[in-house]
Amino acid sequence: LVAEDNPINQTLATITLQQAGHAVTVAGDGRAAVEAYQEGSFDVILMDIQMPELDGFEATAEIRKLEQGKTERIPIIALTAHAMKGDRERCLAAGMDGYVSKPIDVEELKAELAKVVGEEEEAAPAEAVTEEAPEAPAEEAVVEQAPPEPEAASEEAEPEESLLDKEGLLRRAAGSWQVVEMVCAQLLDTIPNSLEAIAGAVRDKDGTRLKKEAHTYKGMVANFGAKSVAELAAQLEHHPVGEKPEEAEAILEKLRARSARLQEAVANLKPD
Ligand code: MN
Repeated sequence: LVAEDNPINQTLATITLQQAGHAVTVAGDGRAAVEAYQEGSFDVILMDIQMPELDGFEATAEIRKLEQGKTERIPIIALTAHAMKGDRERCLAAGMDGYVSKPIDVEELKAELAKVVGEEEEAAPAEAVTEEAPEAPAEEAVVEQAPPEPEAASEEAEPEESLLDKEGLLRRAAGSWQVVEMVCAQLLDTIPNSLEAIAGAVRDKDGTRLKKEAHTYKGMVANFGAKSVAELAAQLEHHPVGEKPEEAEAILEKLRARSARLQEAVANLKPD
């Protein structure tokens, strides 16, 4: 069960789990996660921390409460955007069993899954399901890296890799170009509304909303290795917009401009 509110993270977590041989159900918020847990039978839950309705800590608390008196205890792995010290401890203290930071690193997630689920009965069913994901072309695609093109670098004001990390994205998409195309379409679909939500919070000088919207945006573009865009979003996430609205406006303008370049780069992304 994947409990995650961001559609791009949903897609990437789903493909990673499918490749590891799991069948996946997605819940879009904490309340839906608790309901899915009650209705279904799952061997592990990936639990995003920041979600609407119930956050990951609250949803975990409800599930642990529902489990009382039962013999089985479902492993829960936290998905968190914070890479801060103490986060792991906080997740474990809240009744979770593992912890993976976002953007999700495929190997890290697999290692954490192996740790909390254990592989003894996983191996056999895994092979049947992974058939749909061809291994060989995926690996070729990752290995055959074209060297950075000099003409592209000279045209751009900043190095291409800080705008978009194609290699990293393909890796997060489990080597599937089809998945890359899917999440690129999702990103292009989401950017305008997300930017409007951020702009609205800046306009209203609403620090709480700005923090939430900028955080969501940062997490979304991080999957694409869009460091320069994520950095600006991080500045807004922690910005005292109530005190310095003009400064926030200026950062927002930069974010808009750089996001436009990211959109262009994503729209023109092609396989090697
Ligand atoms: Mn979230």
